Amino acid sequence: MGHKSVCLECRKSLNREIDSNSERIYPCSECGKPMTLLPHRFKPPKKTEDKKWETVNFLIEHGFYYQHVYENVEVKKSGIIVYENYAKYPENIKDAKEFVEKYKDQARIYKYKTG
Ligand SMILES: [Zn+2]
Repeated sequence: MGHKSVCLECRKSLNREIDSNSERIYPCSECGKPMTLLPHRFKPPKKTEDKKWETVNFLIEHGFYYQHVYENVEVKKSGIIVYENYAKYPENIKDAKEFVEKYKDQARIYKYKTG
């Protein structure tokens, strides 16, 4: 499955065919920092769209790597977990804050230490 590796510092993204299960780190060719791997569906904002990048950063810091997030997660008595409706990722910081709060149970823990 295709992924994008994104440098949040340089605001650039590359399409990559990678094994997302590997622990390999892909350094940015410009700044050398580890690039963040995001699913192919992530659409990077333009370099000049500060607000959108701020939102992307915020979501990632809180464990939302543009993985699927579900609007409804229901645990049935039988123990089966039912996931319904993909939530749409927000594009501004105000919506992002609500999103993070609402879906915090579905946040992912970041694999690499950041600073
Ligand atoms: Zn970079």
